[in-house]
Amino acid sequence: VLARLAELLGPAKVSFASAERIAYSQDRFPLSLLWTRAGEVPYAPDAVCWPERIDDVRAVLALAAREGFPVVPYGGGSGVCGGTVPVRGGVVLDLKRMNRLLAVRDEALLCEVEAGALGQHLEEALNRRGYTSGHFPSSMYCSTVGGWLAARSAGQASTRYGKIEDLCAGLEIVLPGGEVAILKPVPRSAAGPDWRQLLIGSEGTLGVVTRAWLRIAPLPEARRFLSFRFPSVPSGLQAIRKVLRRGLRPAVVRLYDPLDTLVGVSGGLKGGGVLEAAKVELIERAKLEVLAHPEWAAIAGRFSSGCHSVFVCEGDRELSALEARAIEDAALAAGAEPRGEAPAEHWFRHRYDISYKGAPLFREGAFVDTMEVAAPWDRIETLYERVRAALAARAFTLAHFSHAYLDGCSIYFTFAALCPSERETRERYLECWRAGMEATLDAGGTISHHHGIGLLKADFMRREIGPFLDVFCALKRAIDPRGVLNPGKMGLP
Ligand SMILES: Cc1cc2nc3c(=O)[nH]c(=O)nc-3n(C[C@H](O)[C@H](O)[C@H](O)COP(=O)(O)OP(=O)(O)OC[C@H]3O[C@@H](n4cnc5c(N)ncnc54)[C@H](O)[C@@H]3O)c2cc1C
Repeated sequence: VLARLAELLGPAKVSFASAERIAYSQDRFPLSLLWTRAGEVPYAPDAVCWPERIDDVRAVLALAAREGFPVVPYGGGSGVCGGTVPVRGGVVLDLKRMNRLLAVRDEALLCEVEAGALGQHLEEALNRRGYTSGHFPSSMYCSTVGGWLAARSAGQASTRYGKIEDLCAGLEIVLPGGEVAILKPVPRSAAGPDWRQLLIGSEGTLGVVTRAWLRIAPLPEARRFLSFRFPSVPSGLQAIRKVLRRGLRPAVVRLYDPLDTLVGVSGGLKGGGVLEAAKVELIERAKLEVLAHPEWAAIAGRFSSGCHSVFVCEGDRELSALEARAIEDAALAAGAEPRGEAPAEHWFRHRYDISYKGAPLFREGAFVDTMEVAAPWDRIETLYERVRAALAARAFTLAHFSHAYLDGCSIYFTFAALCPSERETRERYLECWRAGMEATLDAGGTISHHHGIGLLKADFMRREIGPFLDVFCALKRAIDPRGVLNPGKMGLP
C-alpha cells in the first residue's frame, strides 16, 4: 500500500524516513512534550505526505478508503490537544504546500485561500493589498487556515472580528473516498442546516479542508491603546460588560486576575530590561520553587494590587476614539485606576512572544499548559472560582479573561507544576485536566473556547454534548464508513 502511495504522488511528496515519522508523531500537546522529554515515541505515522494540489489529497483519501489505512490531516502542528497524534499510524497529510492566496474580492470583503497557508503569510499578503484577516491567534507564525477551521480557533481580536467560525463564509473539503464538496461563500443562507458549521470544528475526522473563503476587513485606519488597574475581577468584568452592552466592539479586551497581574508585572520588568541577568536567574529559580509548592500561590496572590487590564480599539478613526472614551468611562465608573497607553502598547508589541515561554519550564522537569473555557456572563464568576480552585490545589495557576462577547467570555487558565518524578508529573498533569474539566462542566461552561478536543478532552465530550455524541458518531459512520479519517479523536470510536 505504501509503495502505491509513492507511485500515486511521486517521491518528492512522500517520505517513509524515520526522522520525518518521528517529527510528525506529535503536535504541541504538552503530554506529547512529556513523552519527548522521556525519549518516548508512543505513536508514529507510517508515512508523511505533502500534497501540492487537491488531486493529491483526493488520491490519498481514495486509496485510504479502499485499503482502510488512517489519514491524519496536519497543518502547522501547533494544536495543543493531540489532534494530529497518529494514534493508529497510517499517513500524516501535511497541507502546508497548498498555501496560495487565490483571490481577494473587494466588494464582498472575502478572500479565497488554500488551507495550508500559514497565518502570518496570509496576513502579510492581505496587508499588502490593504486588508486584514482579523484573525490573530498567538500561534500566528505556526498555524494554518485549515487548522484554524478544524479546531474552531480564536484570534486575539475575536471580540471585534469574531472567531474563525464567524469569519468563514465558505469551504472546500475532500471527503473520505476522495469526493470534493464545496460549500460556496454566501453571506447567510436558509437552505437547510449550515453544513459549514458542522464541518468547522470536526478536527479532520470528517474531511480534509483544502480551500476556504474567509471574511476580511479593510486595514484599520487607527488604533487606540488603554490600560487600567481594576480593584477586583468582578469590577473589571462589570466594566467590560457595560462597554459591550453599549454596542461597542473593541478588538482586544483582556483582564488579568490578581496572581496573573503580579506575575505579569515581574515579566514586564524583565522584558523592559530593568533587571540584569543575575536577578533574572534568581527569579527563574524562585519560579521553580513556587511550581513545586502550588499552595504558596495563595500567599503570593495577597501581594497583588488588583487586576491589570488591556484594551485595544481599532478601525475607523472617529469610531475607535469614541470607543476608547466609552471604555475609559466604564472603567472609571467601576473604580479602576488608569495606567495609560504604554502597558497596552507593550502587550501589543509582544502579543506573539508570550506563548513560547513554556520550553524552559519543560527543560527543568516541570509542565505548563493552558485551559481555555467559556461561559455566559451570569456563570462566569462561578466558572472562574471553581476551575481556579480545582487547578490551584494541584498546580500554580494564573488566569485572564479575554475573547469577550455580548453574552459571555472566555477564561484562559495557565497552570504549571513540578513534581519529584516524571511519573508523578504525568499523573498530576492528567489530574489537573480531569479536575478542571469536571469543574467547568459543573459550572455550566464549555470545555473548549478555541483549542478544540483532540485526544485530551475526548472523555469529556459525552458530558459536553450529551446524546449529540451519538449523532456525531452516526454522522462519522455515514461519511467515513471505514473510519480512516483521524481515528481515535474527539470521543468518536
Ligand atoms: C504558542 C501557541 C499559541 C496558541 N495560541 C492560540 C490562539 O491564540 N488561538 C487559538 O485558537 N489557538 C491557539 N493555539 C492552538 C493552535 O494554534 C490552534 O488550535 C490552531 O488552530 C491549530 O492550527 P494548525 O494549523 O497548527 O493545526 P494542527 O495542529 O496541524 O491540527 C489541528 C487539528 O486540525 C486538523 N487539521 C489540520 N489541518 C486540517 C485540514 N486542512 N483539514 C482538516 N483537518 C485539519 C488536525 O488533524 C488536528 O485535528 C496556540 C498554540 C500554540 C502552540
